[in-house]
Amino acid sequence: MGATDTTGRADYNESAMKTAIYPGTFDPVTCGHLDILGEASKLFDRVIGAVGVNPRKSAIFSVDDRLQMMREAIYDDGLFNVEVAAFDGLTVDFAREHDAQFIVRGLRAVTDFENELALVLANEQLDSGIKTIFVMPSHKYLYLSSSIVRQAAELGRRVIPGSVPPAVERKLSEKFGF
Ligand code: ADP
Repeated sequence: MGATDTTGRADYNESAMKTAIYPGTFDPVTCGHLDILGEASKLFDRVIGAVGVNPRKSAIFSVDDRLQMMREAIYDDGLFNVEVAAFDGLTVDFAREHDAQFIVRGLRAVTDFENELALVLANEQLDSGIKTIFVMPSHKYLYLSSSIVRQAAELGRRVIPGSVPPAVERKLSEKFGF
């Protein structure tokens, strides 16, 4: 339970807290994702990296592995107001369940824009109380994606330098035997 302020309102600390979720597949989490999380951790009091469980999207890593890699990378980066959780169902429902008022998404090159716009419009219709905030990564990560990381590991048996945190590098080399 939170404290009570002089006007008698309960939980004022908690309701004043700005919480954002950062949803994605994170298969696996990359330095681009972490760049966005780092920025979000400065903008919001609390951030939840939300790892999506989507049976229609086949992931190479289990949800538990994706959560574990993300948790380790967040710890290593010292992002102490960031936590991780798995979710299925609608993003806006997950946001509500966690008292989040914001959804953070990363915006890279123009190719992201159309997809992201469709998502924002759908989420606005579903719950107009939850706002989406876009964050652009450092130029180093503008063309980095989980799928490029996966392809380099699967086909080339290697990790693109500077693309993933150590926890992911270890898991990729375990999985693909390099
Ligand atoms: P999704 O399946 O929802 O696209 P991803 O894990 O691929 O999930 O990405 C989650 C979010 O992170 C999306 O908003 C995506 O645009 C963003 N993102 C992915 N890679 C990068 C990157 N290199 N730099 C910045 N944002 C990124």
